[in-house]
Amino acid sequence: MDGAWAENLFTARGHILHEKVDGDTYQTRGTTRIVRGLRIHSFIYGLVGRCDVVEFVEGSSASSGAQIVRPVEFKAGKPKDDLSDKIQLCAQALCLEEMLHVEVKQGAFFYAKVRRRSVVDIDAHLRAEAFKVIDAVREIVSTKTLPMSAFSEKCRSCSLESVCMPKALNPRKLHSYLRELYEP
Ligand code: SF4
Repeated sequence: MDGAWAENLFTARGHILHEKVDGDTYQTRGTTRIVRGLRIHSFIYGLVGRCDVVEFVEGSSASSGAQIVRPVEFKAGKPKDDLSDKIQLCAQALCLEEMLHVEVKQGAFFYAKVRRRSVVDIDAHLRAEAFKVIDAVREIVSTKTLPMSAFSEKCRSCSLESVCMPKALNPRKLHSYLRELYEP
């Protein structure tokens, strides 16, 4: 958000994986057209980005026979316990819906570490969570105020840990640090 960036093993792995899929290319397999590196946006939600892959499946909607549009995101790691990846996928779905005037009901991930594809429903619950994140990010952008960082398990593999120093803002650790500093 403030332009900070740092590389680590995980971001490097991600770059290598995305070099393979960010190719602005497409191919057709049967009734599915696979488009890579599609640039997407939403004027309604103020989003811009790029999909690793969008699949356009001809005439396969069970109810109408209409085309199915499905974003597919490639991840170097494995499925996460939290909703962060799914919210990213949902944001892609919102962009595609606005751009193509379709309803995106599902997206998918391919996790390289477990070499598995998993399908995600873009349902009302996920959309509501994505809207909360979009609102929170818009608030940060409009107020130009970054939230305080808080240490969690995911910080251990985050390339920005040495920049953002989330442990330094742990109130208990800060208290004991100050006590050690000033008490004899
Ligand atoms: S709070 Fe943790 S995960 Fe978030 S940027 Fe800082 S180190 Fe990374």
